[in-house]
Amino acid sequence: MHDIDIEMVEMTLDVVKYAINRITKTNPELGKPKTEAELRQLVGETVTNRGIGGEKAFELFRDVLVKATVPIDHPRHLAFVPAAPTRAAILFDLVTSASSIHGAYWMEGAGGIFCENEAMQWLVSLTGMPKPAFGVFTSGGTAANLSALVAAREKWRKNPKNQNVKGLMITAIGAHSSIKAMAKVIDVDVLLVDTEDAMSGTALQTVINRLNAEQRARVFAVVATGGTTNAGIIDDLAGVAEVCEREQVWFHVDAAYGGGALAAKSVRHLFNGIERADSVTIDPHKWLFSPYDCGAVLYKNPEEAKEAHAQEGSYLEIFKDEGAHGFNPSDYQIQLTRRLRGLPLWYSLATHGTEKYAWAVEEGIKLANIAGKLIMEHPLLELVREPSLSCVLYRRKGWTPTDYRNWTYKNHDAGFALVTPTKWKTGSGYETVSRFCFINPDTTEEDIVAILKSME
Ligand SMILES: *Cc1c(COP(=O)(O)O)cnc(C)c1O
Repeated sequence: MHDIDIEMVEMTLDVVKYAINRITKTNPELGKPKTEAELRQLVGETVTNRGIGGEKAFELFRDVLVKATVPIDHPRHLAFVPAAPTRAAILFDLVTSASSIHGAYWMEGAGGIFCENEAMQWLVSLTGMPKPAFGVFTSGGTAANLSALVAAREKWRKNPKNQNVKGLMITAIGAHSSIKAMAKVIDVDVLLVDTEDAMSGTALQTVINRLNAEQRARVFAVVATGGTTNAGIIDDLAGVAEVCEREQVWFHVDAAYGGGALAAKSVRHLFNGIERADSVTIDPHKWLFSPYDCGAVLYKNPEEAKEAHAQEGSYLEIFKDEGAHGFNPSDYQIQLTRRLRGLPLWYSLATHGTEKYAWAVEEGIKLANIAGKLIMEHPLLELVREPSLSCVLYRRKGWTPTDYRNWTYKNHDAGFALVTPTKWKTGSGYETVSRFCFINPDTTEEDIVAILKSME
């Protein structure tokens, strides 16, 4: 067994050395995918009867496979919604794994769940939702949205008249694809308010007023977006809240991307009305500097979520007894066994303090405004709309969709930057435009200048 111990020590050193290097590198190599056939040729068989050994497997990962991935925290990765986990959070992600804590029930996870709840309390305070509002960490925004929508639908179903009726929810076309996808999961219909700009209370009311009595009875939830993923647009949350209160339907705010901006004084007022939501989704793995994966769902009245989600089972009863002494995360979202995925956020918050978070989010907003200014000053470029939160949509005059696409691939192939085009609704059709989304406070004005220059 002695040999095995030495091998284990060497492997541990290799892995930890790699992790430390990666965590401290602020400008990692911008990798790109290879085909499966190419990767297969490079690495051969990796899962075999006798194993290829940790050293070899790790070598393949470090020297070949990880290079076929895109480090989403690269300062010139401005596509989709990037990420920029803090070192403290990443380190604690390692600690979370090493600690083997079951995060479903207080009975087993008390000390860790306590930490998650400290971080959750901060998220709740950012929204301004009144007591007893609280929430849980999920695997991401999709799971958070699903958990919230199930809670909404179950509440509506409590009315015997709705027992065999298919639910209907209302959202706007700017809503994230996961809303429509989760509607399929829970088998409800979606009605879209036809605007990619902010959904107003008036527009929502108009849509509701057009429904016939049967359709109106099916409406169980309205989903507003607190920062659309495409353009950073925040719906008129106060206006939507008012309509939902009047109509007595569940009001969900999907702030998976934008939720981090609740910490930023410069834009906080744009979210007014979020405190009236029945549920809110925020993804700490987007704009709150947590590693993947970490989402969160917050409820105005957690008991309503518990009614929808608490699982029964004879072997689970003991947890419930003990659980009476504490908070059981499994009761409030769709997952039973769960990683304590709020723990890295907690450690990072405890390390840096909430003011540092506010600063880091403001940096993203600042970068968007800098980019906006540079674009306006550039003769070949044009803003599609004012920057919103940390998103900037802009066009390169005279470019076709193919030009944008070629430009994206050229910059990515060169290992220089990853900026992808998107589509923006213009009257009757969609225009292909370029898009920045800033998250990483290490991105610089020079990075933006260089990217814009590559469009000349
Ligand atoms: C990213 C995003 C989601 C989905 O979140 P995942 O963490 O990717 O599951 C949902 N809604 C909005 C607004 C988003 O930006």
